[in-house]
Amino acid sequence: MDLYEYQARQLLEEQDIDVPKAVFAQNSHEVAEAADIIGYPVVIKAQVKIGHRGQAGGVRIAHDRDEAILISEDILPMTIHGHKVSGILVTEAKNILHEYYVSISVDRSSRDFDVLATANGGTEVEEVARKHPESVKRLHISALEDFDLEAATKMAESIGFYHADSAQAAQILLNMWRCFKQNDATLVEINPLAKVGDPDDESSKSLCALDAKISLDDNAAFRHDGWKRFADPIVPDPFEQRAREHNLHYVHLTGEVGVIGNGAGLVMSSLDAVAFAGEEQGTGVKAANFLDIGGGASSQVMCESLEIILSDPQVESVFINVYGGITSCEQVALGILEAADQLGASKPMVVRFEGNKADEGLRILAEADNPNIHVCETMGQAAAEAARLAAHGKEER
Ligand code: GDP
Ligand code: MN
Repeated sequence: MDLYEYQARQLLEEQDIDVPKAVFAQNSHEVAEAADIIGYPVVIKAQVKIGHRGQAGGVRIAHDRDEAILISEDILPMTIHGHKVSGILVTEAKNILHEYYVSISVDRSSRDFDVLATANGGTEVEEVARKHPESVKRLHISALEDFDLEAATKMAESIGFYHADSAQAAQILLNMWRCFKQNDATLVEINPLAKVGDPDDESSKSLCALDAKISLDDNAAFRHDGWKRFADPIVPDPFEQRAREHNLHYVHLTGEVGVIGNGAGLVMSSLDAVAFAGEEQGTGVKAANFLDIGGGASSQVMCESLEIILSDPQVESVFINVYGGITSCEQVALGILEAADQLGASKPMVVRFEGNKADEGLRILAEADNPNIHVCETMGQAAAEAARLAAHGKEER
C-alpha cells in the first residue's frame, strides 16, 4: 500500500524526523483556515499517490489567504497522471538552501535493502541517476545485518552533505531505517530532504523532510491492525469493498460482461477476449470487472463471486472461464448452481471449463438444465457468446 504524503510524514514525525508544520484539508475553506494558522507563505500540495506533482502544477506557493483559496480551487479538481486529487496538504513554506535525496527500499534482486542518497535532490532519482550516476551513492544492508550510526555517517559523508549537516543527515538516515523496519515498509523516500533556513544565519540552518513517500508491505498489514488509520478518504467502490471482505481479487471496470476466472493471467486474457469480441461484433462491449477466484476455490467462493458480480447493475452477462488445476471445475459448477438458486432469475452466464474435473462440472451443469447457463468449448467462443448476450441485454433495457 502506498501512502499519501500527509500520511507518510506522520510516520517520519513519529521517528523524530523534522517535517514542516502542516495541515491536511479537503476543501478551499479548510485550506484557508489552515493557511491562516500556519502563517504565510504556505505551500499548497495536491495529495495523490504519484510523484512529479510539482511539475504537474500540484505544488504551489501561496502568499496570502486569497491566493491560497485560488490555488486550492485550481488543484482540488485536478487529476495528476491519472490520479484524482484526494485532498490538499497545506505546509509552511521553508526557505530552501539545498535539496538532497535519501531513500531506503527493498532490493528484490539481491533480497536485501538499499540505502540511496544523492546531493542532487529535488528531481526524481531515476533522472539524477541517468544524468549524474556518480552522484548517487548506494549502500546495501544485508537482511541479517543492521544499519548503525557508523554506516549512516559514512553514507552521509559520501554524498557530500556540507560538513555541518553530516551528523544530522546520519541521524535522519538511522531514523528512516527505524521507520522502515517498524512499519514493515518497502520504501521510505525523502525527496527533497532540504537544508532550510536563513542563508545569513548559520544557527538557523537544518535538514527538513519537505516531501515523503512511503510504501507499506501489504503482507504485513495484519501486524499493524490492517493500517486502518491510513484508510483512503475517497469513498471506496462498494463492489470492491464487498469483494475485499471475501478476500477476492476483484477490480471494478466499466463494461457489461462480468468476468470470473482462476489465475490472474487467465482472467486478464479473458478481459482481452471479451474486448476483442465486442470490437468484432461492432458493439464495443467490454468486461465489467476483473475477478480472480485463485487456486482451489470452493463452491462457496464461486457462489460469493457470482453474487457480487450479479449485484452490479451494469452487468448484462457473465463469462466464467476456469482452467482447472488445483481448482476443481466440479466445485465451480456447484457454486454456479448455488448462486443461480439463491439469486433466482438472473443474467445469462457463459461457462468454459477445461482441466481438473471439467467433464464432471459440465455434466452437473447439463443436468441442471438452467436456461441462463450456456456452455462453450473454447475461450474465444465463450467470450464471443458472453459479449453477444451482453449487447443483447443492453438493447432490451
Ligand atoms: P513532488 O513533485 O511530487 O515530488 O512534490 P514535492 O513535495 O517534492 O515538491 C516539489 C518541489 O516543490 C520540491 O522539490 C521543492 O523544490 C518545492 N517545494 C516543496 N516544498 C517547498 C517549500 O517549503 N519551500 C519551497 N521554496 N519550495 C518547496
Ligand atoms: Mn518530491
